[in-house]
Amino acid sequence: MTKESSKAPPLYPKTHLLAASGIAALLSLALLVFPSSDVEAKKTTLSLELESPAEQLTQDQDAAEAVQATNEPAASPFAQIENSAEEPQETAQAAPSPAPVIEEKKSPNHREVIVSKGDTLSTLFEKVGLPATSVHEVLASDKQAKQFSQLKHGQKLEFELSPDGQLTNLHSKISDVESITLTKNDKGYAFNRITAKPTVRSAYVHGVINSSLSQSAARAGLSHSLTMDMASVFGYDVDFAQDIRQGDQFDVIYEQKVVNGKAVGNGPILSARFTNRGKTYTAVRYTNKQGNSSYYTADGNSMRKAFIRTPVDFARISSKFSMGRKHPILNKIRAHKGVDYAAPRGTPIKAAGDGKVLLAGRRGGYGNTVIIQHGNTYRTLYGHMQGFAKGVQTGSSVKQGQVIGYIGTTGLSTGPHLHYEFQVNGVHVDPLGQKVAMADPISKAERARFLAQSQPLMARMDQEKSTQLASSKR
Ligand SMILES: [Zn+2]
Repeated sequence: MTKESSKAPPLYPKTHLLAASGIAALLSLALLVFPSSDVEAKKTTLSLELESPAEQLTQDQDAAEAVQATNEPAASPFAQIENSAEEPQETAQAAPSPAPVIEEKKSPNHREVIVSKGDTLSTLFEKVGLPATSVHEVLASDKQAKQFSQLKHGQKLEFELSPDGQLTNLHSKISDVESITLTKNDKGYAFNRITAKPTVRSAYVHGVINSSLSQSAARAGLSHSLTMDMASVFGYDVDFAQDIRQGDQFDVIYEQKVVNGKAVGNGPILSARFTNRGKTYTAVRYTNKQGNSSYYTADGNSMRKAFIRTPVDFARISSKFSMGRKHPILNKIRAHKGVDYAAPRGTPIKAAGDGKVLLAGRRGGYGNTVIIQHGNTYRTLYGHMQGFAKGVQTGSSVKQGQVIGYIGTTGLSTGPHLHYEFQVNGVHVDPLGQKVAMADPISKAERARFLAQSQPLMARMDQEKSTQLASSKR
């Protein structure tokens, strides 16, 4: 049992708060600082689903030409000018309806209309020469048909008309993967929604960092979210806030979702390599037989440098992590943001991972305390120690498994135990919980399966990279 006092000073000195903020936060901050052009570049990468403005422009021009050719009266710019001159109050209504965009293509009974500002289904029907009453007929034919009235600017509607001018088919692509259709039958119109199932392929990017990771990643064609994923995958080994240097490199193979040859979205990173200041780190995603996915080095060790699950051998858990428990001494309900390990006085306590000692000293109700910073993201705390191991002092480095001190009952404590806390990006998490991917290596039983997946990915990165480098030299 432990007795962290509410009077205990803040767990971490203010100077460390900045350091405690996570990779994600720092990256976001960094992204804000970068010039807007960089951000725009990223947006371009991300907006693959949207039709390119150039494409729309071409359509609009085609349509405008078609309109001029057909000499549609409402298209006359003079009509609007005359209106505005004579009755300015009506201009507001007249103005939003720009030249109708009608394109005649394939058969003379085919019409295409691009939705522009102020358009409703009625105005669009009018533009292709359908009577206003047919809108009601169409919308009443099927409950789902009203999806056609949820128009988006730039959306294209395709009409098929019968020789006598009746609507036989209405079709619209509402996204790269979805389209809706109404087809005339003897009862009215039948609604149909078609969702294209994207095919999944793997894509490769290679980038060299010139100024910032985000700029280089955007230039290489890696989306913002994949860039963040990559930073997270390598977050234990690489400090993306401070350690990135010009000339650092990355290779990423990731899942890409494709419809009709067009990328419509991304899946996870399958494998990646990051070279930071001459040292190369490799990551492979692997989903084990229980269905849990995690990243491993090519030889099957976890990317999250295995934290020791229990910093004290032969200990008994006497109190678990809880957001609300009755404090044994204060007799009040308060969070217990750590795990207590009861063990005899003098039992060695081990560092959960490699890191830097932020504190080895007294800390209020925690008594003799060691705080270790692990990479950029993780921090562990060990309280109520009897004393510190030789050589463990504020500012020193420790190795995983190294004895840092001994079980005691200093500070507000009812008996000998270790109070152990684990932080991810400054947030307390349960060291026993699933949230912390306590990195076990690939199990022996799955090793062959893992290698069968990881080796081709490694080979592909080698091959793609050399192909890309060779073609860039030509
Ligand atoms: Zn405790």
